[in-house]
Amino acid sequence: MNNNNVIKQVAIYLRKSRDDGDYEDVLSKHRDALVAIANAKGWKYKCYEEVMSGERLIYRAEMQKLLKCLDENLYDAVLVIDIDRLGRGEPKDWGVIKDTFLTSDTLIITPNSTYDLWDEKDDMTFDFKTMLAKYELKKIKERFRNGKIGGAKKGMWTNGSPPYPYIYNREDKKLDVHPEKYRIYRLMMEKYLGGFNLLQIADWLNEEKIPTPYGGKRNKHGWSSVGIRRLLINEIHLGYIIYGRTRNYRGNFQIINKDEWIKVQGDHQPVKTQEEHEAILAKLAENTLQPNRSKAINVAPLSGLLFCSKCGNRMRIKRRKQNGEFVWSTMCVHVNEDGSTCEQTGRRLDDEFNEAIYKRITKIDQESVQTVNEETMRLQEARALLQSKNDELSKTLKAIEKLIELYEEEMVTKQQFSQRKVAHENSIIKIKRDIEKYQIIIAGSKAGVTVEKIEDRIGKFKSVWEKTANNAQRNKAYRSIVHKIIYDRGEDGKVILRVFYK
Ligand SMILES: [Zn+2]
Repeated sequence: MNNNNVIKQVAIYLRKSRDDGDYEDVLSKHRDALVAIANAKGWKYKCYEEVMSGERLIYRAEMQKLLKCLDENLYDAVLVIDIDRLGRGEPKDWGVIKDTFLTSDTLIITPNSTYDLWDEKDDMTFDFKTMLAKYELKKIKERFRNGKIGGAKKGMWTNGSPPYPYIYNREDKKLDVHPEKYRIYRLMMEKYLGGFNLLQIADWLNEEKIPTPYGGKRNKHGWSSVGIRRLLINEIHLGYIIYGRTRNYRGNFQIINKDEWIKVQGDHQPVKTQEEHEAILAKLAENTLQPNRSKAINVAPLSGLLFCSKCGNRMRIKRRKQNGEFVWSTMCVHVNEDGSTCEQTGRRLDDEFNEAIYKRITKIDQESVQTVNEETMRLQEARALLQSKNDELSKTLKAIEKLIELYEEEMVTKQQFSQRKVAHENSIIKIKRDIEKYQIIIAGSKAGVTVEKIEDRIGKFKSVWEKTANNAQRNKAYRSIVHKIIYDRGEDGKVILRVFYK
């Protein structure tokens, strides 16, 4: 892969994993290694170092910052010790990370490899690595659960101050319900389910001068909507004891993902029913429901499909903001071996271009027919040549056998024998090289593509296309029929596209 040549700006992302041992020590080793790579390649870099190693993306501030910068196309690549450092195993997080790398067309570089997620092979490797990370996380969860569940199972309260309206009973180490607080708690819940919002409930509690759950600094501003929300969704009020919401891991405070919590039936009295709990959750979800803008929408319709006619490399498709609007453009950033950049001229991927490409793809013209025919001919030719090379190989092998016989029967001199043997062996090397070449051509060619088949698929493609609502869906539709599109822009500015169908 020649991508290394076009990389100028990289981000170095550092995060320790659970098994790394001493935090500082490991991270500085990683930092040194990655910085050395960036320096050796002459890349400009910025380090993103996760101080808190949170479980989920939302707790990883540096990753959040990094993803935002990727969205703005600030980096050509992200340098990490291993792919699994990017995520932690949460499938949803991996989805967000992958989307961001794809849509921003950013490479992932590890000390051993470069990954371009638009490349199918790299994409598979990435998915495999993330699968491993997910599996690891599951194992860790199980270990944690098995080790710690014993104490929590007894139903004893070990978690410090209990939530309102409970109070801690020191004698039997259990939770009791405080009668007056219970009355307030029930009112809170009824008001919420009756249509009050969290802020209105906080105001009401403050106006009524109801003492806050905790004294001192923690509640110096009185009741807050955040605090009330936390009380309303708490599962302790259902009669459970929750264990393992946070943990101290080698001196680092960690917030634990909800899936990893241990929830057991406690000995205390529930203060809300399961139905009430679910009604609260439903109402909260309704109120906090935000339009979930999928990142994938930021893909260009042609992302991953355009290839440069001049150098054969995949063209980059980048998005940038212009006059408050996003515009897409494509360019070839390939650097030739002599250090010169590819001469291909890029282009804005505007409506005009998109319309042209749609027309180009949905209409099988003479050129496409020719492309298909050429491909078929190329395949036939390669097969014929492979056959003849195989024949040649077996002939040569037989000739060597014959030569040995002749030598054994003393029909040829030792010198003659050696000379002919060397000649045969040399031609075997050459034949084998040719065989490999034709095998590669055959393996890479789209066997069985016919004009009829393409027409049939274009029909299906058109009906899928009509239902697409965003670029991600359009990209998927294109990918369903198009293998790649060769882009060429002449000196007159005209773009010539050659479509290769799947
Ligand atoms: Zn090029």
